[in-house]
Amino acid sequence: MRVYNSLIELVGNTPLVRLKKVAAGVAPTVLAKVEYFNPGGSVKDRIALRMVEDAERRGLLRPGGTIVEPTSGNTGVGLAIVAAEKGYRCVFVCPDKVGADKLAVLRAYGAEVVVCPTTVAPDHPESYYSVSDRLAATIPGAWKPDQYANPNNPESHYHSTGPEIWEQTEGRITHFVAGIGTGGTITGTGRYLKEVSGGRVKVIGADPEGSVYSGGTGRPYLVEGVGEDIWPTTYDPEICDEVVAVSDKDSFLMTRRLAREEALLVGGSCGLAVVAALKVAAGAGPDDVVVVLLPDGGRGYLGKIFNDEWMADYGFLEADTEEATAGQVL
Ligand code: PMP
Repeated sequence: MRVYNSLIELVGNTPLVRLKKVAAGVAPTVLAKVEYFNPGGSVKDRIALRMVEDAERRGLLRPGGTIVEPTSGNTGVGLAIVAAEKGYRCVFVCPDKVGADKLAVLRAYGAEVVVCPTTVAPDHPESYYSVSDRLAATIPGAWKPDQYANPNNPESHYHSTGPEIWEQTEGRITHFVAGIGTGGTITGTGRYLKEVSGGRVKVIGADPEGSVYSGGTGRPYLVEGVGEDIWPTTYDPEICDEVVAVSDKDSFLMTRRLAREEALLVGGSCGLAVVAALKVAAGAGPDDVVVVLLPDGGRGYLGKIFNDEWMADYGFLEADTEEATAGQVL
């Protein structure tokens, strides 16, 4: 029988899909690494699996243990899938800007979810970093993967995402573009691609305007999963040849175009990464191959990015643009 013993076996080996319409007008080939094909629907399944298995090997996580993690949702889903397979309890701590749909998904997988304010400083006792530390210290048998400091986060990408992209492009990739959250994706994938290409592949980070990676102070932005107000150890600041700052508005408008024009229903950090990739592609040549990683699917953002009223409330849809009137009966 052609069966899988567990969803865990389906993590990784995601497809590369050519972006045609949104990349019309740029010379290079632009390819999207579509991470929503992972069983939990995001790139984070990759790190969840490697972090848990490493903790088991080290005896940090034992049968009956509890996984406690601050997560914007996707890492939670990845951990919940691995936990369901292996029989662990999960408690996740999320910032309040995370959409209700994403929290409902975590609860549906059987996880407990604690929501914390986004507006407080990282060292504030109510911040999602502080609350998760407290829970990890007080729940017996608790283990905190700590995706912001766990070397298995970038290593999972060094061992899976990077080699997959190299093989899928038959070594023709010239530019790798990804958003920076924990920095695990760009650090692990970027390091592998630079090593295997002898330094030829350029690595470009995409960052929300206001985040520290592109020189900001951590000023709030709406795009989820990327940007930081701290510098996590999972990010190697040497890895990027360039970091491109992208506004919420541009990120979300591109996210909507990806759904309508490429049939890629993806999240806001995907729009952000594609805006950066197209900027890079605009300065590159016809033989170049730009690979942009799309971290998750769009179903968790239906009430926000794909909701015209929400977009209009933030001034992201202008009344006189074609995008604002598309779909209206005129
Ligand atoms: N986009 C989304 C939606 C995410 O959840 C994450 C992970 N925080 C990222 C992008 C960034 O990935 P990384 O943490 O590997 O930098």
